Amino acid sequence: MNRPAPDWHARAADLRPDGRCVIDGRRVDAADSVCYDKSSPVDGRLLGAVARGRAPDIDAAVHAARTAFEDRRWAAQPPAARKKVLQRFAEKVLAAREELALLETLDMGKPIGAALSVDVPATARCIAWYAEALDKRYDEVAPTAETALALITREPVGVVGAIVPWNYPMIMAAWKIAPALAMGNSLVLKPSEKSPFTALRLAELALEAGLPPGVFNVVPGYGCEAGEALALHMDVDAIGFTGSTRTGRRMLEYAGRSNLKRVFNELGGKSAFIVFPDCGDLARAAATAAGSMYFNQGESCNAPSRVLVHADIAERFVELLAAQLPRWAPGDPLQPGTTMGAIVDDVQLRTVLGYIESGQSEGARLLAGGRQARPDSGGHYVEPTLFDGVDGGMRIAQEEIFGPVQAVLRFRDETEAVRIANATSYGLQASVWSDHLSRAHRVARALRAGTVHVNQYDEDDITVPFGGFKQSGNGRDKSLHAFDKYTELKTTWLRIDGANP
Ligand code: NAD
Repeated sequence: MNRPAPDWHARAADLRPDGRCVIDGRRVDAADSVCYDKSSPVDGRLLGAVARGRAPDIDAAVHAARTAFEDRRWAAQPPAARKKVLQRFAEKVLAAREELALLETLDMGKPIGAALSVDVPATARCIAWYAEALDKRYDEVAPTAETALALITREPVGVVGAIVPWNYPMIMAAWKIAPALAMGNSLVLKPSEKSPFTALRLAELALEAGLPPGVFNVVPGYGCEAGEALALHMDVDAIGFTGSTRTGRRMLEYAGRSNLKRVFNELGGKSAFIVFPDCGDLARAAATAAGSMYFNQGESCNAPSRVLVHADIAERFVELLAAQLPRWAPGDPLQPGTTMGAIVDDVQLRTVLGYIESGQSEGARLLAGGRQARPDSGGHYVEPTLFDGVDGGMRIAQEEIFGPVQAVLRFRDETEAVRIANATSYGLQASVWSDHLSRAHRVARALRAGTVHVNQYDEDDITVPFGGFKQSGNGRDKSLHAFDKYTELKTTWLRIDGANP
């Protein structure tokens, strides 16, 4: 029998999320009981009080993580045992699907349909995938002379600090938590102050799944307090950071000012979507460009915020693109049919509106959108916005907006397309649309980006690495390559004596 569709408004009204830290397996207040109020961008409602973690809380969490790491309560468990715990963790995430999706929607504004169909399953799949991977990984024996044996092994790095943003709070956390735990590390996670609730629930679910206390701790709080204390901590061995390039720069400074901890940065983007005249399906290209841009309110690091289109097909393509925008009109995030939800907070809304103003004042042509939407909702919404006539030097072509604003730039030949595409400080993703095989390969090779798509944009899987060139970061999340971040490489030499005479 089919269950009736949940009444998300009623459930939201009943929700009382717990904002306390999870340290050493227990829910605890911040050391001096200081909290901040977290409200929802959906309609401004107060969601609850959240612990405002600071240096003493980070100290307690790092101490718990260090103790758990040193007594090897997790790291020494056989791989098959660790795998079982992580598999159970993934199952628990799926079992809590509706609760987690609702928390994510209320916390950061994404539509409930997206939270249910993307965020929760991707989080569970990430954890389950690393669970499966951990006992299929072999170390190496070096091809040395017979007089010795050299083992090259990977060991957990120790205590990992994970600092994550608010745009995909659970998925970004899972990309750090799962490979770090799979390799036997202990962890302190600092979620964004704008989206703390699902991270805290994940820690509880991991405990229920059998993860020993102290292995996975969560301290919510502000970046300049909890985040800084974690990244500066002398007993943290590595930082897995996802966030803005501005904060990523600080992560490197913190490491330099403290213990030279390893820093892996997954940062911003300004990805180019390049459409050549030999693209055989302009309608699909336009639908993909719009869908990948406006999904998640444009708050995606890899959103194709620059569309580069050949001058010969530009008029037609821009028409097709503009025709997509009504599908992305902002709506109530708690209604299952809504495609675009709320912007995370008032500060981000002002930033997005500021960029729209700057595009207009720099001379770009506003084709659609551009205004705040749903002003009576009590939340923060903005129309999907499209600019044409954008010049590569304008701020809207160079800076990451992190909102639903797409810029169309025109080019005349392949060389110019590649030059414009590569002419930002970022290098996260790019896309090439052409039916000419050699052109597609040529351009894909020339693009300075961590991922290049050809005739598509949305293909994604936990099996492939994710990360950027240039100021989009270093290291890679996802895939087996993520293990590199959470392990140290060790060589062990053993002498082998000759045969007894
Ligand atoms: P942000 O840099 O403001 O914050 C990210 C995290 O860092 C938060 O937890 C925040 O509290 C913390 N933080 C902020 N200032 C800090 C400081 N001084 N010291 C220590 N910690 C600090 O970024 P955001 O606004 O939360 O997220 C949006 C950014 O994240 C965008 O630039 C986006 O492109 C990027 N992002 C990148 C990826 C990727 O995989 N490359 C994925 C998602 C988001």
